[in-house]
Amino acid sequence: MGLFDNRFASKNAAMSRAFSIDSEKDKKKRNFTHEPAAPKMGVCDKCHKEALLRTYRFKEMSMSDGVASFGTVVKHLCEDCAPRSKRVEDASVPAMDKKQVKNLMRSAKKGLL
Ligand SMILES: [Zn+2]
Repeated sequence: MGLFDNRFASKNAAMSRAFSIDSEKDKKKRNFTHEPAAPKMGVCDKCHKEALLRTYRFKEMSMSDGVASFGTVVKHLCEDCAPRSKRVEDASVPAMDKKQVKNLMRSAKKGLL
């Protein structure tokens, strides 16, 4: 029994050690990725205006020789060209396409007449 307890305890200790190392790594990774990059003056990759730029990483799929490969593309974008977060995008993009908007405008006008 005593042997089992010892083994269990040491296994437990090893696991908690491993866990604390992992969480320490995670913390460092989180800090690294969430650290806001300081905006720098430069030329925007999208609109080619000189502006304060932030660095963005995009996952991009490219085809070469018929083989798809995934890579990370780093772009420097000004505030205007900066990608919006998914949440902002979902909130700001209307669930209507142009035709639907046109129809809505038309019916709104009809209602006014
Ligand atoms: Zn731009």
